[in-house]
Amino acid sequence: MEEENVKKSANSSDSANYFYEVDEEFRNTLATVDKEGKRIWLYPKKPSGAFHNKRIYVTILLLAILFAGPFLTIGGKPFLLLNFFDREFIIFGSAFWPQDFFLLALVLITFFVFIILFTVAFGRIWCGWACPQTLFMEMVFRKIEYLIEGDAKQQKKLNSKPWDAEKILKKGSKQLIFIIISLLISHTVMAYLIGIDETILIVSQPPSEHLSGFIGLMVFTGIFYFVFSYFREQACVAVCPYGRLQGVLLVKESIVVIYDWLRGEPRGKIKKGSEKAEQKGDCIDCNWCVHVCPTGIDIRNGTQLECVNCTACIDACDEVMEKVDKPKGLIKYSSPKAIDEGKNKLFTPRVAGYSAVLIILVTILSYLVLTRSDIEASIFRVPGQTYQKTEDGKISNLFNIQFVNKTFEDKEIRLELLEIPGGIIEQVGKDKISIPSNELYDGVFFIKIPSEKLHPGKNMIDIAIYDGEEIVEIIDTSFFGPMPGRQ
Ligand code: SF4
Ligand code: SF4
Repeated sequence: MEEENVKKSANSSDSANYFYEVDEEFRNTLATVDKEGKRIWLYPKKPSGAFHNKRIYVTILLLAILFAGPFLTIGGKPFLLLNFFDREFIIFGSAFWPQDFFLLALVLITFFVFIILFTVAFGRIWCGWACPQTLFMEMVFRKIEYLIEGDAKQQKKLNSKPWDAEKILKKGSKQLIFIIISLLISHTVMAYLIGIDETILIVSQPPSEHLSGFIGLMVFTGIFYFVFSYFREQACVAVCPYGRLQGVLLVKESIVVIYDWLRGEPRGKIKKGSEKAEQKGDCIDCNWCVHVCPTGIDIRNGTQLECVNCTACIDACDEVMEKVDKPKGLIKYSSPKAIDEGKNKLFTPRVAGYSAVLIILVTILSYLVLTRSDIEASIFRVPGQTYQKTEDGKISNLFNIQFVNKTFEDKEIRLELLEIPGGIIEQVGKDKISIPSNELYDGVFFIKIPSEKLHPGKNMIDIAIYDGEEIVEIIDTSFFGPMPGRQ
């Protein structure tokens, strides 16, 4: 049984045919936890190389978008505002209300299907190239650490030495910069939540005038500081639900960061003067790929939950291959199937199925968004009321009305009863309703209908909602008339 364990290692959850011999013992331990269950602090070597350079450009672009986002406006309105506190949502400059909740639900379902499809096809590319956690950790905070404390070896040395002036200066300045960046991130997040103007007010006025906003900012700052200065890779390996999903989402055709075991095995260190005779595989077992890994894993053991596809091991191994005069790409973006069979098929039936579902969802969502009414109206008869008779022989019902003006213009709304001669709508004290931009209106009105136009009991009626001369919606609702034999 034990021997069997030692023999097999899978390169994906669905890779029964893609084995090579690896000591499965690695599955019994975590790279960041020791035998006593204590955290092992990782000191990944400073990454460099072609992939890393590309990631720097992508990071600069994405962080520029992230930090510029709160300042971007469309037609004078925020590009993105997700104000959960006041239930105010602006996406691409358009206002969305809690009444649009079904759209949000559909967006989430569509997003979820997209994530599944993307992961099945391209593995964890998101984690390595676009996830804010990885970008800030590896491309911002870690870089500051390298700059101040040096590479992995110097960091270890610094941590083990007593607190002298150099250590205090280096550690102190690093933590201070970490706090400043955490403040910057928290203010940006706050600006997406309450708007840039409100955030500037909190910053520019005494905390006592915006106590809740100030406390919120401090809490966010504390969380970011904790995550990036201490929690680090644990966010990816122990908390992130997306990471946990990899086991069920990845298939043997998924593109991931992978070690080419056919080329690399059997691995072995180069012995001077006898490389050709003793070396069978290309892996020289130098462990550089492990030393640079920010989650501390050995990618040669196959795809693992901890791998955030940061590409550091690709760059490290490419550098080693160059030095030993072998082709690059021993660790690369590929799939277990491509390595094993020499070819891959990305558009599998599973990918086709998810794509079809995604296209349907996007089509429905686009239709709903594009045909979304500027004015959302709800009309209900006042609960518990039936009807009254008026002096001029009409039957009257009392209605509640609610309008949501989803635009950034003031609206003048008019109601009209359709296809009932002699029927009228009487709004208390006015014949038009003014709704300020992006506001909610609640009111009541009477509908009066000549009794001869009604059936006994429940009647269905249509009410047209006019925005200027244009009908924006027709609402059908029920109207109660007298029952036979009752007055
Ligand atoms: S860096 Fe490349 S050669 Fe060195 S151990 Fe890793 S896979 Fe093998
Ligand atoms: S295994 Fe490679 S790609 Fe995965 S996290 Fe480690 S260094 Fe990054």
